[in-house]
Parts: sequence; structure tokens; C-alpha cells
Amino acid sequence: MNHFHYHQGQLNAEDLPLEQIAAAVGTPFYCYSTATLQRHFIAFQEAMTGLRATICFAVKANGNIAVIRTLAELGAGADVVSEGELRCALAAGVPAGRIVFSGVGKARPEIELAINSGILQINAESEPELDLLSQVAVQLGKKIAIGIRVNPDVDAATHAKITTGRKENKFGIEWTHAHRILQHANRLPGLDVAAVAVHIGSQLTDLAPFREAFLRVRDLVVMLRADGIAIRRIDLGGGLGIPYDPQMAPPPSPAAYGALVRQILGDLECDLICEPGRLLVGNAGMLISRVLYIKEGATRSFVICDAAMNDLVRPAMYDAHHEIIPVRQPESGVAMGVMDVVGPVCESGDTFARQRTLPPLASGDLLAFASAGAYGATMSSTYNARRLVPEVLVKGTAFAVVRRRPSYDEMLSLETFPEWMK
Ligand SMILES: *Cc1c(COP(=O)(O)O)cnc(C)c1O
Repeated sequence: MNHFHYHQGQLNAEDLPLEQIAAAVGTPFYCYSTATLQRHFIAFQEAMTGLRATICFAVKANGNIAVIRTLAELGAGADVVSEGELRCALAAGVPAGRIVFSGVGKARPEIELAINSGILQINAESEPELDLLSQVAVQLGKKIAIGIRVNPDVDAATHAKITTGRKENKFGIEWTHAHRILQHANRLPGLDVAAVAVHIGSQLTDLAPFREAFLRVRDLVVMLRADGIAIRRIDLGGGLGIPYDPQMAPPPSPAAYGALVRQILGDLECDLICEPGRLLVGNAGMLISRVLYIKEGATRSFVICDAAMNDLVRPAMYDAHHEIIPVRQPESGVAMGVMDVVGPVCESGDTFARQRTLPPLASGDLLAFASAGAYGATMSSTYNARRLVPEVLVKGTAFAVVRRRPSYDEMLSLETFPEWMK
């Protein structure tokens, strides 16, 4: 459920016509709905009732500080994977005690900042990282709570580029080695071995891989406890999918996910950390773009719009489906056409949809790419020297530009000529 709907023939974000925002901000832009963010967070929170879960929003899905704060105001923590994301989460007002630092390649300055900020937990993914974590903690005169991310070798049955829990993936500690490595970690002076962590992939549309992974985590926690390593937290990662395509069966609900967690891990007396990203923000955002041209090719019609793969890379990168909705509501019974929707970038991959059924469109019309709130703006780039796309947050009838479009001068100001050219 989201709060984008037609009202009097116009697609609204909550109570505001998107056309009005487009007129003020220019296109393309991302638009997020506060009510949808809140609704998704509360639905997940309710699914976890009674489980002592801290919900740490995975900032890599949407790093805008106003979006993070919207969730933090409801009690969300943050899961961060870089110094930049850690700084965003802190700037957004997330208490350090609710921040988890994940990721396979943390550099020393990132570890220092994390420890000095007093975050809840750092999830380690290799033996050398554990050694460095302990060394830095000792140098700073601290002890840092760590989670060990295990790789449970389960197939998440999602797109290959977002599968992370198979043994051939770079993530986590091979789960059959986890016991030995945790014993080692437990002897390191700077570490407080607090948690076992797992994250098997993103956009999962079936609970079976979660079940398999959680069962392995359960076995490990029981085994470690028998060995005197007092695991007190389990970090379940994120990964629950969202509906992108109304033609496809919907993914399991947060409630069904919560029931599974309760069934497998509920009796372990552990605190839980959940790291949903996409689930909280995906359907709370749209990318709004204007049609530049309609081009009749030899065998196809193309809708050329002013958004491109640099603004929303998911279709090019993951063959992802986004619903494309005209901002002006089509007349009922209007004859539909089949079109390719493309951007201006000089690559054939700059295609948002192939052979999509759409109502008649004309130059100047606005289109909304739905479900673009996760891995949209955060993955955008300046390819083709296009400016980073701005972000707008709506609340009721109000909107605010929460990241502005940079000027071309700002973009160019990062570049200089070497001495020998001056
Ligand atoms: C990406 C990621 C998440 C969030 O994944 P979603 O599919 O967006 O829920 C959570 N935890 C870790 C460690 C991640 O890398």
C-alpha cells in the first residue's frame, strides 16, 4: 500500500498533485511520501511485536537524511555500510546506540569513526577484519560489540547481482568455519562477541531461503552457547521483497516473515536486529520524468523521457521492472499502445521498459516510475555529465526539496587542470 493515487484526474503524492511539484522543481526528480514511509515502518514493527527487535533501516536503499529522520522519529535505527552512510545516519539524528555497521571491506578510518561514535555493533565478515577491529579498539581504549556475519550457503532465488548468501559470494564467514573463527574472536582483547549476523540477499519473494538461513543461525547460536560464548543478539539482515509488478504474485508479508522469525528464533532469548531497506522505502518513492519526444522507429515506438539510467539504474543493472504511470489520468477506454520507454543516455541499456502497454502520450507529458524509493537516488550517478537528480519529500499537502539539483558550476568545480596545462 502506498499514498500515490489519482485524484481529480491527477496523480497525487498524498494530497499534492505531482504536476505541481514538477512545475516548481523541474524534472526529473524523486518524490517520497512521508505517510507511506511511516506506514511501512509501522507494519514491519507490528510484525516484530514481542521479539525485542531493533529495526535498523538499511541506509544504502535510501540515504536521504530527511527520509532517514522520518523513520528515526518512529524509532528506527540504521544499518550502514560506509563512513558516508554512518555520517548520514548520525546527521539524520539516529542515536549511535541504534546503528549497525555492515559490509565486507571496512577501512581503518571507518572503523575508528564507528568505534569513536559508540555505535551498537560492527558486523565483521573475515578473520583479518576481526584482528583489525580488535587492534583499533584496543588503541582507542574501547571494547567494541561485534556481530559475525555468517554465510549460510543458501540460494536466495533472487537476481544474481543481489544474491549474497551463497558460498561463492564474497559475503560473510563460511558458516562451517564460523564456530572456529568465533572462538578466535572471543579471545581478542578489543572485542565483545555479541551477535551472529546473516543477510542472504535482496528482493526475496519466498520465505524458504530465510527459513534455511535462520535454521543455520539457530544451530550456530546453540553450539556457541554450549561452548561458553554468550551470543545475545541475532542480526537477521534485510532482504524481504516488495511488489514491483502487479502481474506477479506478491512477496510474503512482513507479518508472515515475523511469524517465521518467531517460530525459528523466538525461544532463544536473543535481542534481534532487523535491517530492512527496500521494504521500508521502495514503494514510498517515485521518479517523475517528462516526455521529451515520441519517436516512431522502423518496428517500434519509443517514448524518450528526460530521466535516464544514471537517475534510475535498476532496469539496466538488474533487468528490474518499474510500473510506468502517466501523471495525468488517461481517459477510460482509451486505445492503448505498445512502446519502449527510454532515456537520453548514449547506451541501449538506457531503457526503462520494452514493449510496455501505455495510453497515448505526447511531448511534455509527465510519467511516474513507481517503486523507485529504494536503490534509486542512492545508485544515481552523473554519467553523461547529467546532474544528480533532486529529491522531494511530501507530507500531506506540503512538500520540501530535501536534496537539490546541483548547478553545472558545482559539478565543474570538482575538476581542475594539472599544473602543466596552466
Ligand atoms: C543491502 C543490505 C540490507 C538491506 O537489504 P534490503 O533488500 O534492501 O532489505 C540489509 N543488510 C545488509 C547487510 C545489506 O547489505
